[in-house]
Amino acid sequence: MKVGVLGGTFDPPHIGHLVIGDQALHQLGLDELWYTPVGQPTHKVARPVSAAVHRVAMTRLAIATHAQFRLREDDVERPGPHYSLTLMQLLRQRHPEHAFTFIIGEDSLADLPKWHQPARLLELVQLAVAHRQDIQPDMAAVQAVVPHIERLVQWIEAPLLDLSSTDLRWRLGKGLSTRYLMPRAVSDYAVAHALYSSAGH
Ligand code: ATP
Repeated sequence: MKVGVLGGTFDPPHIGHLVIGDQALHQLGLDELWYTPVGQPTHKVARPVSAAVHRVAMTRLAIATHAQFRLREDDVERPGPHYSLTLMQLLRQRHPEHAFTFIIGEDSLADLPKWHQPARLLELVQLAVAHRQDIQPDMAAVQAVVPHIERLVQWIEAPLLDLSSTDLRWRLGKGLSTRYLMPRAVSDYAVAHALYSSAGH
């Protein structure tokens, strides 16, 4: 099978995550898209991240209606540090029969120089990237850590959605509407568990 892996904090998941997953699925001819909440994000230490149990539950709710979307708990179930490289090594070891494409937004591409051994990651998996509003990666810096990055990237042609979990945490914290920005079941869950009620995030 051809499998896309979309790792994220998903705190909370929103339609940006769902749209890039579905567009990747169709444009890259993937069989399944695996949404993989990360255990402890290595890049996002500036704020407390919601407990994995909540991020997993919200991701499950977010993807529930798509027949080719799957929830994977491999990353939250393993000890850290939670690098993308070690996640993909684990998934390949568990599923040697699949061909994996790692899917990221353009902000993550810009951050690639900060990742743990990005060149090794891209030896293991294909990389697909969705454009993201107001992000212009310094490709020379990315090239310095992953030679020939331009040739390795497959671009996902998705509409630019200026949406982020940061914005949704803020809206939920203020009691503002998130309708059409995230699945209703996810916002109901976040409100019921008061996940962002003191959102200074
Ligand atoms: P935060 O606002 O907390 O930083 P986020 O909205 O970026 O969160 P993540 O869970 O960190 O969400 O994102 C997981 C992956 O999805 C990342 O590779 C990110 O670049 C990508 N992504 C998230 N939102 C979008 C979007 N609106 N368009 C394109 N890619 C996105």
